[in-house]
Amino acid sequence: KAQIEEALHGFSLDLRLITDSTNDKLKGDGFTHNKLVVAEYQSAGRGRRGRKWVSPLASNLYWSLGWKTQLPVQQLGGLSLIVGLAIVKALQQLGITGVELKWPNDIRYQGRKLGGILVELSGDMVGGLQVIIGVGLNVHMASNAAESIEQEWINLQELEPTISRQQLLITVIQCLQDYLERFSDGGFESFLSEWQRYDECLNKKVAILQGEDVINGIGAGVDANGAFLLQTGKGIKPVYAGEVSLRFR
Ligand code: ATP
Repeated sequence: KAQIEEALHGFSLDLRLITDSTNDKLKGDGFTHNKLVVAEYQSAGRGRRGRKWVSPLASNLYWSLGWKTQLPVQQLGGLSLIVGLAIVKALQQLGITGVELKWPNDIRYQGRKLGGILVELSGDMVGGLQVIIGVGLNVHMASNAAESIEQEWINLQELEPTISRQQLLITVIQCLQDYLERFSDGGFESFLSEWQRYDECLNKKVAILQGEDVINGIGAGVDANGAFLLQTGKGIKPVYAGEVSLRFR
């Protein structure tokens, strides 16, 4: 714990063996300053829209960062994208390359899911927004623990056999601190070209699903607000993360 704390500047650390979900723990406890909650097991890990995040004991990384920001909510559109970019950068520093990002919140390797990001707003907004940035990264999850995952997934250990969860956590948080600072200063716009490098959907045939509606098109990157750009027969349509899902065709 001391080593992790030393590596984190200005964040308090709450390390626990078990929690329901690190996002919910932060939400429940609240935070007045930047705070990191890390758990070894989540009994109710979540993805978007209440989907389950499989979180077996001592296998992966599950953490949430409570981040206070003065940015207005309209400028947070690209936040989950820059969290993904910070993770890609950290993985590169640990010798892992070839990781891609699938808008808006998936971290993938050759089409297999390595991790996910869940950004939520919390608390009242007096004196700035309280943002919860939750991340799950697969490190050495046993396949029998992951039987309920209905899509292709992969462990980081497959890409880097000597990976340590502690080193991974420290590296990711340090990169994220840098990226959050840059994001606060310059918004998402300054990350656009970096996003383009790791955008798994760029120039690919994709479908945007919204309830019963399906819009087909080709991935054309993202805009300065982090909205997905879908090239359709009628031109380029920006798509906002909220209620939509993206699938390859
Ligand atoms: P969307 O594109 O709408 O975000 P998604 O399938 O990526 O869809 P998320 O909410 O991002 O959905 O993530 C939850 C999904 O991720 C689960 O439904 C499951 O299929 C998958 N999943 C759950 N746990 C893990 C895990 N540990 N590793 C990889 N994938 C997981």
